[in-house]
Amino acid sequence: MAQQLIGFIGAGNMATSLAGGMIAKGIRPARIWMSDPSRDRLDEVSQQHRVHVATENLEVAQRVDALVLSVKPQMMASVCADLRSVVAERRPLVISIAAGVTVANLRAWLGEEVPIVRCMPNTPALVQAGATGLYAAEGVDDGQKALAAQVLGAVGLTFWFDNEQALDAVTAVSGSGPAYFFLLMEALIDAAKAQGLDAATARQLVLQTAWGASQLAITSEVGPDVLRQRVTSPGGTTAAALEVFEEAGFREHVQAAVAAARERSEELA
Ligand code: NAD
Repeated sequence: MAQQLIGFIGAGNMATSLAGGMIAKGIRPARIWMSDPSRDRLDEVSQQHRVHVATENLEVAQRVDALVLSVKPQMMASVCADLRSVVAERRPLVISIAAGVTVANLRAWLGEEVPIVRCMPNTPALVQAGATGLYAAEGVDDGQKALAAQVLGAVGLTFWFDNEQALDAVTAVSGSGPAYFFLLMEALIDAAKAQGLDAATARQLVLQTAWGASQLAITSEVGPDVLRQRVTSPGGTTAAALEVFEEAGFREHVQAAVAAARERSEELA
């Protein structure tokens, strides 16, 4: 694994975060290739990360052991069509991070024999705090799985699933999940302002509280339910607020929201 070359097709936000994370974890930039039609983008990336760059996707596909498809989902079919001849012949590990693009799609576009790992990362990967679900299709060996975990593990935690359908649930929970927390932050900032706090202070109080609660939950030996109970004295202020949430059906809304996201993920696939 030490000398394997990794190529990114599309040098956008996700690809550069992954490459930056890999380099920060000790992978030599010389092992990384990136292609993108935008010369400006490539200049920026090569200056920042010192990786190899190319405007032609095939130039990258011809060299690497693992190819990370990191273009927008709607670009994937045409990008794969261009890569097909080289990928079908060389059979590098193909790692797709595109939302809603299935293994069956990728096999139809690239060839049936190509080893494929499909991933569902999330936006906190951009700050190396991501959570990624991975699924290895038949034909992917242990070394290739380790390589995929190394690439995605460079920007956060990785979780393997043994069936592809589980990625629809992952999409609904951690893929879309950051937006749920952002919504709560927005609502709490608005509520803070409604209680007379100035906008800047409201924002800082809310973001620090969200970060602190997350850190506490991650480092604690007990679950969020126990942590919640510990800050809720009977008859106190937190209890008064939580009662309003519960009465409004907060948990049921969360269940319904995640089910809706999962359904949409299945429809899009
Ligand atoms: P982005 O728009 O930042 O990057 C896409 C890049 O692809 C751009 O630099 C663009 O110039 C390049 N590109 C366009 N056409 C191309 C072509 N023909 N060949 C090569 N490159 C081409 O997008 P992103 O946010 O980095 O997302 C990339 C993929 O990651 C998407 O499929 C998305 O579903 C997936 N994803 C992203 C996130 C996220 O947090 N951003 C989360 C989960 C999944």
